[in-house]
Amino acid sequence: MSNENKDMTALAADREKTIVRTSIIGILTNVLLAAFKAAVGIISNSIAVTLDAVNNLSDALSSVVTIIGAKLGAKAPDKKHPLGYGRIEYLSSMIVAAIVLYAGITSLVESVKKIIHPEAADYGTISLIIIAVAIVVKLVLGRYVKKQGEKVNSGALVASGKDASFDAILSASVLASAIVFLIWGISLEAYVGVIISIVIIKAGIEMMMETLNDIIGQRGDADTGAQIRSILNEEPEVRGAYDLILYNYGPNKYYGSVHLELPDTMTVDEVDVLTRKVQVEVYQKTGVVLTGISVYSYNTTNEEAAKIRDTVHKLVLAHDWALQVHGFYADTDKKTMRFDVVLDFSVDQKEALEIMNQEVQKLYPDYTIQIIPDIDAGD
Ligand SMILES: [Zn+2]
Repeated sequence: MSNENKDMTALAADREKTIVRTSIIGILTNVLLAAFKAAVGIISNSIAVTLDAVNNLSDALSSVVTIIGAKLGAKAPDKKHPLGYGRIEYLSSMIVAAIVLYAGITSLVESVKKIIHPEAADYGTISLIIIAVAIVVKLVLGRYVKKQGEKVNSGALVASGKDASFDAILSASVLASAIVFLIWGISLEAYVGVIISIVIIKAGIEMMMETLNDIIGQRGDADTGAQIRSILNEEPEVRGAYDLILYNYGPNKYYGSVHLELPDTMTVDEVDVLTRKVQVEVYQKTGVVLTGISVYSYNTTNEEAAKIRDTVHKLVLAHDWALQVHGFYADTDKKTMRFDVVLDFSVDQKEALEIMNQEVQKLYPDYTIQIIPDIDAGD
């Protein structure tokens, strides 16, 4: 995600161009292949090759959907959708996955039918050569499209690329069964067809699950999180960056919020200058827009408070369901202390809070204690 020397709008435009260009190449190749295979399938009366041709056509369709998704997803934010249209791309990935799934189910049905009512296939040399060429073309196309998809983080392109590679494998297995048929007269086609279909169906379901996770919203990307935290921690004033949550509004479109531990001696003006500085830096280096930076005050001059902080940290982190303690502040005059604890999802929040309150209160009976439970949402 780090293209420091190019601004983010230019990167987004490049990304859209790459998706459209790659998809157009996919459409042209698939249409050509489908035409070839359909011709071969009809001439050689082979259901497997004809199925392959249909599959290529549906791949061309999925490239069309990918283009539409990329174009709509790149629409500029407006009053109705102030965070942009980026998530539309997940819908197009979902549609591509559904096309793959549908292709798998139809070819499964056809293959089973063939097992029940077997029909002999007839292969000429030309048809075998064309199938072999188709395998090579699909392999190259699949690798190219998948690589482009990974480069620009497009789930729809990656799905189409994987599907193309699958097709190459499927076509290869059709070719193999044709050769077996020609040499030994054993017709494996329908059985190969069943295996083919199951592989396609499995891939389609996996693609759908992947996209569904994006739509539901999943844990932020660990590398991006680490990069953002290291940018923040580079600032001499920052004692720690916590609760980093990335909100995803489409591929490469992230908004984020974070809490910074800052010395209790800083003025509001100094905090303002600092948060604006890191906001710009994080955006330039990662493309993430930090919409929310809030602060925890950190004891810097009070030795007693620092001691309490260490003790409380040790006490709380002794529980394996307590993943992190941060935002600790003690006012030794007013006898108050506050801190956040990131809890593991496996523990009951209320119970954990009670345990921690009791343990800390026992050590500091005259303190008023405020413990905030944080969700383990950071990457
Ligand atoms: Zn927190």
